Amino acid sequence: MSEANPYSVLFEPVQIGPVTARNRFFQVPHCNGMGHLRPRAEAAMRAMKAEGGWAVVCNQETEIHPTSDLSPYAENRLWDARDIPALRLMTEGVHAKGSLAAIELAHNGSHAQNLLSRAPVLAPSDMSLELVYPKQARAMDKSDIRDLRRWHRAAALRAREAGFDIVYVYAGHDMTLAHHFLKPHMNDRSDEYGGSLENRLRLTRELLEETHDAVGDTCAVAFRFAVDEMLGADGMQAAEEGRAVVEMLAELPDLWDVNVTSWANDSATTRFQPLDGYQNDYISFVKSVTSKPVVGVGRLTSPDMMASMVRKGIVDFIGAARPSIADPFLPTKIEQGRVDEIRECIGCNICVAADSAGVPIRCTQNPTMGEEWRRGWHPEQIAAKGEEEDALVIGAGPAGLECAMQLARRGYQVTLAEARAELGGRVLCESRLPGLGAWIRVADYRLHDLRQRANVQIYTDSRLDAAQVLELGIPNVFVATGAQWRADGVGRNTLRARPTIAPDAVILTPDDIMAGIRPPDGPVVIYDDDHAYIAGVIAEQLAVAGHAVTFVTPEPLVSSFTGLTLEQHRIQTRLIELGVDIRCNQILAGVDAATVQSVCSFTSRPTQFPCGSAVLVTERTRETALYTGLQTKGLKTLQLIGDAAAPALIADATYSGHMAARNFERSDTEVDRDWFRREIIDLEEGEI
Ligand code: ADP
Ligand code: SF4
Repeated sequence: MSEANPYSVLFEPVQIGPVTARNRFFQVPHCNGMGHLRPRAEAAMRAMKAEGGWAVVCNQETEIHPTSDLSPYAENRLWDARDIPALRLMTEGVHAKGSLAAIELAHNGSHAQNLLSRAPVLAPSDMSLELVYPKQARAMDKSDIRDLRRWHRAAALRAREAGFDIVYVYAGHDMTLAHHFLKPHMNDRSDEYGGSLENRLRLTRELLEETHDAVGDTCAVAFRFAVDEMLGADGMQAAEEGRAVVEMLAELPDLWDVNVTSWANDSATTRFQPLDGYQNDYISFVKSVTSKPVVGVGRLTSPDMMASMVRKGIVDFIGAARPSIADPFLPTKIEQGRVDEIRECIGCNICVAADSAGVPIRCTQNPTMGEEWRRGWHPEQIAAKGEEEDALVIGAGPAGLECAMQLARRGYQVTLAEARAELGGRVLCESRLPGLGAWIRVADYRLHDLRQRANVQIYTDSRLDAAQVLELGIPNVFVATGAQWRADGVGRNTLRARPTIAPDAVILTPDDIMAGIRPPDGPVVIYDDDHAYIAGVIAEQLAVAGHAVTFVTPEPLVSSFTGLTLEQHRIQTRLIELGVDIRCNQILAGVDAATVQSVCSFTSRPTQFPCGSAVLVTERTRETALYTGLQTKGLKTLQLIGDAAAPALIADATYSGHMAARNFERSDTEVDRDWFRREIIDLEEGEI
């Protein structure tokens, strides 16, 4: 790296106990929905991070014993020696790219449900499980604690055998026994493991000491600790017990990986936490208390902020989960002075949603995330073009932009035509809604790339019809014309009994609101049968603008999908605080000039809400007229992509555009045959 690189401080090696990281980029543990069920996929994803320059690459929480069984979620697993080979895939992949591999050992206590193992659930005190299941955890007796320590030690030894260089003790995210013992509201013990902070910390201290004793000669021992619960005086605070813990254990771990809890605070979305580096205020004291290296996170994507955090002595390592998902090559790009090519995380938590749903990780910004093994996709590489020369992409939303960018990278002459004066499609519109400003990064990243390329021509104000497309004479056409919100209230709950919309009803759609159309003065009813973020954001915007807003939904919670992105509680809280009248379990029946009518989703009992206008957020209609018009016109290839093919998340649109570009000039047989690789269960009877 050139001496002139202003970020050279980020590329200094750092010693962690007995091992050395080649630079300061540290991919902290993150869930990914692959885990023990899809070990090849996880290994390839982690190896890609190493290839992209992350000096330390962690796996995700790793169950150390059947009493910590997170099924049906696909975390990592190290119950016994038979789990070693799957984890070794990752360490070998990471080592092959010159990085250190770290494992986050975890006993999840009452955060686990033990649904597969049917083992008793363990906790500091008798208590209900964290997730709703009618089963209780039992207070661990002394022999349980001895067992736990033995299991943790054995897991550390197996981790070393699997090739890990760094072994974690984990007390964070409210998810592990070490953390549960620390919290007074979960620990009412009267023995030496309860009461004073020293007692509540005893288990953690023992785990750290015993992990050191077991593997510390060759492996570094890391401690992941949430210094603040972000509950003020109702929880652990960085200024009080959080700091006391760091002081009491200061030199015991080889590395401090510090953050805030809960997971929703640690992985806050940009909608509720717009600032990068938002954890600095909580963690900055740690380095003054310990001489050991410190890693911190906070959706860090700006190299300037990273370098300043190191120079100011806030951290030794730049920790990242989401920024490393959005751009596995972030360190390499900084090292090579290609900072403007960083694909910045937008803080939407769709990556989290996949894990929460128990399926492999995906990313709005990085369509290759999770596809490294099963499709062989590389975030920075794509096959060169075949025999075709030219491609036309119509529509510059996330699907069209991604498709055009990847086609251009393959070497085709790409023409991109967009009807509107501005590029970005839905991303441009949605980014203007409150809290969603970071969404624009999806367009910015791709436009920056496209504008550098000589083989790309971009036309705005160009709404093409079929005749105009044919006039262009480009034989390969990708239609990414998007979808429009419907105004008739039809959606998943109104298919049997379609709502009656009176001619004098004032109806608006999300497209109208995003286009700047404001409802007339007076009360507004927002009907949400979409359940993602849009209706909640519009409710917020209209309430802030002074409208009396009633939010009506067939679901029992506002924006129920956003439970998967760790935001639901925040959205509902915000709407309540803004005075929005929330009416759940109501299905739309009709709208007239003065009321919205609904029926109870359980009893069908009718209700009505006064309104001057209604915003209907139900479904989108695909914009397929151009595609249909071109179908019989003898084009060499014609593909419908993105929301025009299947309305879904922005992440699905970028994925669709990426897939189309990858598959261009591949035969149907090839595409069908290589749909994706699966990790099929081995039916050979293993030893018990
Ligand atoms: P996606 O999420 O699939 O990318 P978007 O709705 O975000 O879809 O973007 C679709 C884009 O296509 C919009 O910017 C829209 O203006 C544009 N568009 C729609 N029809 C045409 C057309 N006939 N010619 C050019 N652009 C079009
Ligand atoms: Fe960031 Fe969203 Fe990608 Fe997650 S899915 S890494 S939050 S851009």
